[in-house]
Amino acid sequence: MDMARSEEQQMIIDTVRKFIREEVRPLEADIDPDGSEVSPEDTERLRNMVKDMGMWQMSVPEQYGGPGMDLVTRTMVAEELTQHKAGLYAPAFGAFGEAPPAHLYDATDEQKEKYLYPAIREEKRHFFGLSEPSGGSDPARAIRTRAVRDGDSWVINGGKLWNSGADTADFGIIYVRTDPTKGRQGITAFIVDTDTPGFKVNRLIQVMRVFHTTELSFTDMRVPHSAILGEEGGGFALANDYLARNRIPYAAECLGIAQYAHELAVEWSKQRVTFGEPLASRQSIQWMLVDNEIDLRTSRWIALDAAAKAERGEPFRFESSMAKLLCTEAASRVIDRSMQIYGGLGMSKDMPFERWYREIRIRRIGEGTSEIQRVVMARDLLNVRSGS
Ligand SMILES: Cc1cc2nc3c(=O)[nH]c(=O)nc-3n(C[C@H](O)[C@H](O)[C@H](O)COP(=O)(O)OP(=O)(O)OC[C@H]3O[C@@H](n4cnc5c(N)ncnc54)[C@H](O)[C@@H]3O)c2cc1C
Repeated sequence: MDMARSEEQQMIIDTVRKFIREEVRPLEADIDPDGSEVSPEDTERLRNMVKDMGMWQMSVPEQYGGPGMDLVTRTMVAEELTQHKAGLYAPAFGAFGEAPPAHLYDATDEQKEKYLYPAIREEKRHFFGLSEPSGGSDPARAIRTRAVRDGDSWVINGGKLWNSGADTADFGIIYVRTDPTKGRQGITAFIVDTDTPGFKVNRLIQVMRVFHTTELSFTDMRVPHSAILGEEGGGFALANDYLARNRIPYAAECLGIAQYAHELAVEWSKQRVTFGEPLASRQSIQWMLVDNEIDLRTSRWIALDAAAKAERGEPFRFESSMAKLLCTEAASRVIDRSMQIYGGLGMSKDMPFERWYREIRIRRIGEGTSEIQRVVMARDLLNVRSGS
């Protein structure tokens, strides 16, 4: 397979790389080591530059006013966007805009008016509600939140867990059991406004790094039948498709901070002298750096392969899971080795490694754990569905 960049892709990468190095990284000199925001003036300036570059909301299709960038190029760009200190937490400080959930493009006209267009204009924020206290790995069985039909509406009771951004969102897509007799075919996706009576953010859950997520409860939350996204009973397939697509850029983002960590480690190994010689002359250090290269190049290739398959309309679930697993784990190893090469300085908040070390850890859990990626791949490989 040819993974060489086209001329246009190379131009896009060069432009984004220059932007990150010359516009984004300098802003980090003065922010807190765990900071994730720059001043409103700088945010506005960065966003205007991105709009001038024609890359604002890059995944939004042309017919909806965006540049409609394909998934392969977006995967390449995702790796560039995170190559700064706050990169994994806040890629380019949000300068490229927050895209709406892709399934809204297939929503009804009424839903598009109410949610898609405002989301594209960034007037409405959303959250993704799949996981529940009873488990996130096996939602087909774990979803206990129940919707019961009542005339032209549905009454929802239950709750969700770990929903990132739900406390500031205007709406969410939640996956709820509408028919307990039908297993995964009994799960339906609903779009719910967060100001619906009965919707409650019970608490914020502080997690590793400067981040929190939420615990939600729904008590007799009444929503119209028109709140169903897609088909009744089609929610599980929608969630799986959403996750399989999302995992690819999610994986590539991890490579960005790992690539940056590796470049810093290469430089440091040449500068730092111990026992009269630079670290770079030691075989043990050389091998760490070579292992970094192997991790970065192999996982990048797998991520691009997954994106190319998805773009061609071929089955890509196996490759998407492999990319998620490999990129998150390889990036964790690269950051760990790079820290080691920096010695004590690698532990300090003067350098970004300790922040990345915490932030990358979450990526082996979020969007499906490493074990669940293996479960998905094993099912495809062996054509079995274990435990069901
Ligand atoms: C910071 C953060 C943000 C998140 N954001 C969201 C969000 O926005 N929306 C949302 O819906 N969810 C979100 N999640 C939830 C996340 O997707 C789940 O935490 C994840 O899917 C794992 O589910 P769980 O925590 O219930 O663990 P469990 O499902 O209980 O699994 C526990 C452990 O057992 C392993 N395991 C489970 N089954 C198997 C098996 N068959 N074989 C081998 N090992 C297995 C898992 O890999 C894991 O290590 C977020 C989580 C975090 C930490």
